[in-house]
Amino acid sequence: MRKPFSLLAVLLGWVLSSVIVTAQPAAPQKVKNVIYLIGDGMGVAQVTAASTANGKPLFMEQSAASGLAKTSSFDAYVTDSAAGGTALACGVKTNNHAVGVDPDGKPVRSILSYAKEAGKATGVVVTCAVTHATPGAFLAHQPHRKMQEEIAADIVEAGPEVLIGGGRQYFEKRADGRDLSAKLREEGYNVVYKLEEVVAATEGKWIGLLADQHLPKVTEGRQGMLEQSVAAAIKLLNRNENGFVLMVEGSQIDWGGHQNDYDYMTSELIDFDRAVKVARDFAAADGETLVVVTADHETGALALLGAKQEVKPVWSTKGHSAVMVPVFADGAGAAALTGVYENTEIFHRMFQALGFQQ
Ligand code: MG
Ligand code: ZN
Repeated sequence: MRKPFSLLAVLLGWVLSSVIVTAQPAAPQKVKNVIYLIGDGMGVAQVTAASTANGKPLFMEQSAASGLAKTSSFDAYVTDSAAGGTALACGVKTNNHAVGVDPDGKPVRSILSYAKEAGKATGVVVTCAVTHATPGAFLAHQPHRKMQEEIAADIVEAGPEVLIGGGRQYFEKRADGRDLSAKLREEGYNVVYKLEEVVAATEGKWIGLLADQHLPKVTEGRQGMLEQSVAAAIKLLNRNENGFVLMVEGSQIDWGGHQNDYDYMTSELIDFDRAVKVARDFAAADGETLVVVTADHETGALALLGAKQEVKPVWSTKGHSAVMVPVFADGAGAAALTGVYENTEIFHRMFQALGFQQ
């Protein structure tokens, strides 16, 4: 009885040791595409509120990895969206109101600029004017967010393959009389004013300027715009064999917060989460796409108290607050976003995951 047992033990040992030898930590996953979704003003309380209003967990909550980002700007404990956007876009802390420039006013490059250099396609989809602070931080370099005509001119220079949002007036009804849409068309862009035209597109460069200023609230006529725009952008950008980087902003979560309007804020966040689903579904099928969902700052210093079974929201400001914001990551390389760090780290970790060189 001893011999067969020891033979079995030797065999078992051999099998186990070979398993141990081969079970080395997996190499970091190759990241070809990044979909970077920013909920403006989306703190942890906002996510909790929207999850409650939704009646079931949000798609972003189902992410594989999560972290927390600190949002203070270079010159203020409480950031604005320009400095917050610049930190997320360019990995640099700057002064409030500054868009894509450092505290000395020197231009800094965004993840989209590096992506373009690497031969990737780039895109931006927002529910505000495309010249607003957050998209501006990814595509422009101006000392003040209010310089929206200058930001529009910078956007033409940056040359994203897909751009969808509002802000048509900054391209076509400018103080300097220039028609930037005409210039874009000369450069081979399709500049259109209806979402259906971008959705129907199968190839080419597309600029969808869907409103003079900002798009309406999701509850006042914008239903489906963000998720359809994201799907259309992914379809067009994914034609590039070198991959793409797409920034998506749920711009109006912040505005619900500024107005201390609980229903406005939660409806915008749930709408933004539908765009997160589109990104996650693409990433799951693609296998080489990193999805990062985060915020530039929290808005409203929202507390969620209870009144019996009901949620009782308590806002403590009409402005922003300094609390950390959530980071959710899914898909290829998601684990790199785990931890607690400054918002600029998100850029650096993404940059590294994409294999870019400074
Ligand atoms: Mg914004
Ligand atoms: Zn704000």
